[in-house]
Amino acid sequence: MLITCLSGFSFHARKWKIKDRRKLHDKRLAKSGQLFTTMLNLVADKIEDPGPYAGSCGFKAGEKPDFKHVSLGDIMDALVQVRRASADEMVFAEPCARCSKMLHVEFNLSELSRHKPSEIGLEHLQSDKPISITISDTTLGEVEVFVRALRGSDMPTITKWASSTDQEPGLAEDVLNCLHIEEIRSQSGSAKVIRGLQDVLEFWGDQDFHVQDELAEAIEDFTGGIDTEIEEECPHCDVENQLSVPFDLRFFYPARPTGRRRRNSISSMRLG
Ligand SMILES: [Zn+2]
Repeated sequence: MLITCLSGFSFHARKWKIKDRRKLHDKRLAKSGQLFTTMLNLVADKIEDPGPYAGSCGFKAGEKPDFKHVSLGDIMDALVQVRRASADEMVFAEPCARCSKMLHVEFNLSELSRHKPSEIGLEHLQSDKPISITISDTTLGEVEVFVRALRGSDMPTITKWASSTDQEPGLAEDVLNCLHIEEIRSQSGSAKVIRGLQDVLEFWGDQDFHVQDELAEAIEDFTGGIDTEIEEECPHCDVENQLSVPFDLRFFYPARPTGRRRRNSISSMRLG
């Protein structure tokens, strides 16, 4: 099958096989943050159209892609498309945020909305040059923030921060925002340049909420991606729950048809 990603990059791929699932139980692989890129590298064959990755990443038609160069938006989009080749439906259970009773969620992956990267975003993926965004009213006055798209090679860092349980709650989300920032330059007063995750995080933590809103909006616009948020009303307390598509075992193991799930009870009835 041909998978065409949001950026226009396309490649030939096969479906996941039972043996591919064994990778999902490799704890070392999951911890390393390379599970998603591995699951795509397993099924990807030749590149049809290198799209923006023809530039600095050197992708060529007819060659095998390496997903460490591919943007996170394209990676998530490709994962959903490969999953849909096996099954469109997704079934999972999550506790309700209000009453904690289990919500049984069934939805179709074709319903997730997809957003293409902007022209500036495509140019950035092509050249790998950071995009400049001006944000006023920070603790350093007006600053120029140089941002970039996250790629497959950032997954180990994202996973490390997201899974470290001894971190402050909410810190992982701030890290995800700050990983997009290559450099911050103050334009007024004494010239100052902030680089490196620790220093960027420190600057970030001191800012007003509007800085996050402005930056998040700009990043969403240039990177594109898929909306992985779904709404589910709790049948017990009627509260609307905002859930995220779980990109874990439940995503990679399509649920068995309902008829199959009852097989054991049917065979025991026969035996009886
Ligand atoms: Zn509830």
